[in-house]
Amino acid sequence: MYRTGPRYPSNAKKASPSTQCQNCLEYGHWTYECKKPKSYKARPTRTQQLSKPIKLQEPEVPAEFLDKRGLANKLLSKKRDEKNGKGKKRRR
Ligand SMILES: [Zn+2]
Repeated sequence: MYRTGPRYPSNAKKASPSTQCQNCLEYGHWTYECKKPKSYKARPTRTQQLSKPIKLQEPEVPAEFLDKRGLANKLLSKKRDEKNGKGKKRRR
């Protein structure tokens, strides 16, 4: 069946309290509804980001993360063991 009309839910059009205006960076209205003067927020340009040494861009992996990864591997090997233990029954 064809469905006509907007693809997005109608509430997406209305500005909600979480809607951030890209003009004045305040919440509650859309940029095109903004009546305030433009406030420019300086951000590093892509060129500036790229000109940085690559080492600085590498995220530091916290020890927590490594632990979680180890945990996942443990869980996987445990599951594999369980499968192998129960895998003696044949389906066919
Ligand atoms: Zn605004």
